[in-house]
Amino acid sequence: MKITFLGTGTSTGNPQLLCDCRVCHSKDAKDKRLRSSIYIETPSTSILVDCGPDFRQQAFRANIRKIDGVILTHEHYDHVGGLDDLRPYCTFSEMPLFAYQRVLSVVKASMPYSFSVHPYPGVPLFDVHSIQNEPFSIGDLNIIPVEVFHYKLPVLGFRIGNMAYLTDFNSIQPSEVTKLAGVKVLIVDALREEPHISHNTLSQALSLIDSVKPDSAWLIHMSHDMGLHEEVDPALPKGVSLSWDGLTLDC
Ligand SMILES: [Zn+2]
Ligand SMILES: [Zn+2]
Repeated sequence: MKITFLGTGTSTGNPQLLCDCRVCHSKDAKDKRLRSSIYIETPSTSILVDCGPDFRQQAFRANIRKIDGVILTHEHYDHVGGLDDLRPYCTFSEMPLFAYQRVLSVVKASMPYSFSVHPYPGVPLFDVHSIQNEPFSIGDLNIIPVEVFHYKLPVLGFRIGNMAYLTDFNSIQPSEVTKLAGVKVLIVDALREEPHISHNTLSQALSLIDSVKPDSAWLIHMSHDMGLHEEVDPALPKGVSLSWDGLTLDC
């Protein structure tokens, strides 16, 4: 299974508009972060996790030719704002969309033209799959949901094989942490060092990583307040890294 990090930044992306901080002005490509999303491929199945407003640019950059299904972690715009740009991938069949019912309802309300009885020609069409906190499959990928909380909002994290992806949260129930036992690659939200109402701080992320003990952990959804990649990354504990846009992992 190959994972491509399409974006590793928070909802504003980095650089942030109108910000003159040194991170936003950095020349290092690793400090330029589009909105968080990953693309997962096996020889037979390719899935997209979240489809934010940078999807079109991300799809060009990663040369995404095939998508067999899209998992939406939650309904915030930085995770769903690019769904309309999936239309070239929906030309020959409806795009399977997997999410909590609550999330699907928001998508339907924001794209009514895709869900009307007689859709306007050319609009993206979706085959919606309402999921719960129970395992499901897309092609040969067996997906185990791991529910996390983004302040009070339930967000869909998941485990596939030895990899787990947890974005947009700052609390997780012990029963869900149990599902992470034995993962080799853990991808986890870490916004910045200072506390935030709905995102992990760096230390909250490190404490979860320390309890799960994966071989490697990769931080995502960083804001400019996390600091420069070249300064922060080397100071992280062994096995923990800041991810960057374009990073690929085989797992
Ligand atoms: Zn987000
Ligand atoms: Zn900045």
